[in-house]
Amino acid sequence: MSSDQHKPTSRSVTAEPCTCGYLQRAVDDPDTPIQFDQRCGEYHFVYGDALLVIYHCPFCGGAAPPSIRESLFFHPSEDERNRLRDLFRDSRTVDDVIDKFGPPDWVSPVTRKSDEADATPPTVSFSRALVYQRLSDVADVHVDECADGQARVSLQGKRRPHRPA
Ligand SMILES: [Zn+2]
Repeated sequence: MSSDQHKPTSRSVTAEPCTCGYLQRAVDDPDTPIQFDQRCGEYHFVYGDALLVIYHCPFCGGAAPPSIRESLFFHPSEDERNRLRDLFRDSRTVDDVIDKFGPPDWVSPVTRKSDEADATPPTVSFSRALVYQRLSDVADVHVDECADGQARVSLQGKRRPHRPA
């Protein structure tokens, strides 16, 4: 067993993968409670409303194929992150961003409230949160308007498309 294989859980005694095919045959057999969740890439025992994730093959004890739960989203590469950062380099405020890129794909109003403290009265301020989906194939660009009008840019990996069954 090579040490770089990924154990299904921290308590697993082996990372050796199942190659016997039991899990797939069980999924194909409607009389077994084992199902495959396409979205997570996980095998599950399903019993009524209860669901247990299967980490090891019940027949051979091998590791079930690794979950892709962490990979539901794209992870922008460093090059792509730098490219997007450079796009926004000269945009200081939300209005700068809109001037440069046009109307966002989504915009939502944000209300910030700060509580009264010492001599400071309670304050309510209104700002905008923009989302540009069209600037990257792998990331949505979120632009939040800070209290001082400055734009704070963050990237969110896009959700991967559903894989075919
Ligand atoms: Zn097996």
